[in-house]
Amino acid sequence: MPKLERIKLQISGIVQGVGFRPFVYKLGRELGLNGFVCNTAAGVTIEVEGDKNSVEEFCRLLPLRAPELARIDKIERRSLPCLGTDGFVIISSKSGEAQTLISPDMGICDECLADIFDPANRRYRYAFTNCTNCGPRFTISKKLPYDRPNTSMAEFSLCAECAREYYDPDNRRFHAQPNACPVCGPQLTFCDNKGQIIAGDPLKTAQEALRNGQIIAVKGLGGYHLVCDALNNEAVAVLRGRKLRYGKAFALMLPDLAAVKPYCELKEGEEALLADRRRPIVLLNKKSPCAIAEQVAPHNKRLGVMLPYTPLHYLLIEGFSALVMTSANLSDEPIAFEDADALRRLAPLTDGFLLHNRRIVRRCDDSVTQVALGRPALIRRSRGYAPEPLELPLACSEQIFAAGAEQKNTFCLTKGNQAFVSQHLGDLENSAAFDSYLRELGFFKHIFAITPTLAAYDLHPEYLASKYIIEQTALKAVGVQHHHAHLAAVLAEHKLQDQAIGVIFDGTGYGTDGKLWGGEFLVGDLRDFRRAAHLAYICLPGGAKAIREPWRLALAYLAETFGFDEANKIAPEGLLPANADLLWQAVKKGINAPQACGMGRLFDGVSAILGVNRVSDYEGQAAVELEQAVTCDEAAYDFADNGEVIDWRPLIAALIKDIKNSVAVGVCAARFHNGVVKMTLEQVQKLSEATGLKTVCLSGGVWMNNYLLSKTVYELQSRGYAVYFNQKLPVNDGCIAYGQAAVAAARQNKETKL
Ligand code: ZN
Ligand code: ZN
Ligand code: FE
Repeated sequence: MPKLERIKLQISGIVQGVGFRPFVYKLGRELGLNGFVCNTAAGVTIEVEGDKNSVEEFCRLLPLRAPELARIDKIERRSLPCLGTDGFVIISSKSGEAQTLISPDMGICDECLADIFDPANRRYRYAFTNCTNCGPRFTISKKLPYDRPNTSMAEFSLCAECAREYYDPDNRRFHAQPNACPVCGPQLTFCDNKGQIIAGDPLKTAQEALRNGQIIAVKGLGGYHLVCDALNNEAVAVLRGRKLRYGKAFALMLPDLAAVKPYCELKEGEEALLADRRRPIVLLNKKSPCAIAEQVAPHNKRLGVMLPYTPLHYLLIEGFSALVMTSANLSDEPIAFEDADALRRLAPLTDGFLLHNRRIVRRCDDSVTQVALGRPALIRRSRGYAPEPLELPLACSEQIFAAGAEQKNTFCLTKGNQAFVSQHLGDLENSAAFDSYLRELGFFKHIFAITPTLAAYDLHPEYLASKYIIEQTALKAVGVQHHHAHLAAVLAEHKLQDQAIGVIFDGTGYGTDGKLWGGEFLVGDLRDFRRAAHLAYICLPGGAKAIREPWRLALAYLAETFGFDEANKIAPEGLLPANADLLWQAVKKGINAPQACGMGRLFDGVSAILGVNRVSDYEGQAAVELEQAVTCDEAAYDFADNGEVIDWRPLIAALIKDIKNSVAVGVCAARFHNGVVKMTLEQVQKLSEATGLKTVCLSGGVWMNNYLLSKTVYELQSRGYAVYFNQKLPVNDGCIAYGQAAVAAARQNKETKL
């Protein structure tokens, strides 16, 4: 007689809406165990009873065989007296039960893909096919619990066949909330740009339009895309003109991995990232020559590529080598995701609309990634990643709302040691963007049942999100310096509780002295920091204008290095306008010339002096093009170290000397990058000697530069430093909210201890 045992397991993590209960049910039956599985407020509860060996086997296999979309954070186990029950059952959710987590949207799984290309399958060529292992989640959710009536699938009632699948624990569509088929589910329509429905097969009409070089808006998961044939130069040029976007690259969708190879080089890690079910956009090096229209990514050696992630994409892309898939908005506006709004706003941009009647509830842009140092690095964390929580290194008794930065905004809400970072919400510079911020904030508070009592904000007095918090008098508010938030984001992600050296290189962030910082060497921990060294300040001639017009920075760097008259004489041809002297006089009088020390600005200035980029279409363009200009790896320009201030004048002088000596642009660009690496090493070594610290954290948008990052990390590691940078969040301002939350939690913890 085998020894009987009964245990109770409490599982937390992403275990609801991902096929977890049927998986447990099947595993239990397979091992001949009795018991039940049910959803609870905390996650999933399981009780199993049977012979000891089978129970142990059950516990061993549970995490190993868990469904693809599940994420088990914790399993608690307890022994119970045996009850002698018979059979294994799934107990259905009681209504009103708070559910814990919601899965991000996931790209179509292989089985569903096989379904839509199998002529014998009832879902043959059905654009809304999904199952418990794939499909929309976050973007169709109105509230929790994650049950069909609380999603935009509520409007569709299951047909008999779909209902049978839905209630059959052996079916992979058991409790798949968005389950649908051609009989009962959402349908496609095609209409012209006046909103008139065009008769016929919508998909064929759309493909025909694309083949004719037209631009169409396609309704996707988290918003609309503007789509055209990426090999058609003319179509891409028209799209640029209509979108009023001239420099920034358009994202591409290619049918599969094999289709990527003719156009892009694939380094280690890039194939896996492309094929990842989260389906991010991956930045890849273009092959040369490359048949993709030059206008897709002008002056850019890289292409942003993703593979199809919905059944609709797979069907649409048939017969095409590559499609442009750019988010459907005018530059700087939030992505369109509601039908009426889309029809109105996008009509002037498109020749037609491929629509469907499943409502997009949440806006969610495509995520953007690259492979850095062989590992995936996020540039924009959104679809497929949000709202999966990150961990904080310490739990805080209060729930926190961290407002984030102004650009590349995300916000963050915390509960215990979980941090819910929103999807990328873009730049909060106008009221439309801020409205959408408040809407998402309301949704996150509701869906994760978080009522914050503590708030964290950036010190910049003009940031809309900071102003909003300061107005909320009911909340205790903590101001967090921008670059400290960058440092804290790295510390928190890697669970580093001790002090570290932070090398924070970005464009701008408000400093405690009221100036714009961004070339920072900090020493600090989660609670506090001190500014140990920084780049020398420079005036931004024309204020914010200088960010889009790097030649203005070139003027400032040259004039500060050589004096204006000399600078005017030696400036490379075509760099300075005839009236540069008037502009410089204004700067000297302090008119519209804020002081800044961002490393990003130095990149801009050098890029402009070298003639790589003098006027930018998007923030960061000059720096991106400067990185891509590097052709070799030799020598380094020097900075001068004046105690806490790092002087770039020797670097600018050496650069001008090289230009006079006709040294190639690619060599100058390399010497500049190497100069920044060398200076970083020197500063870190100096700080390490003074403090004994051997841990270095890198953060800030400048570190998206792969050449700079790889070289710096390599050099630091080979000198025995432990080097960390943001990996689960972007190094750019997309990490600020999480960093702010970590600082607020750490400070709060200190207070409770006292
Ligand atoms: Zn599936
Ligand atoms: Zn059906
Ligand atoms: Fe920043």
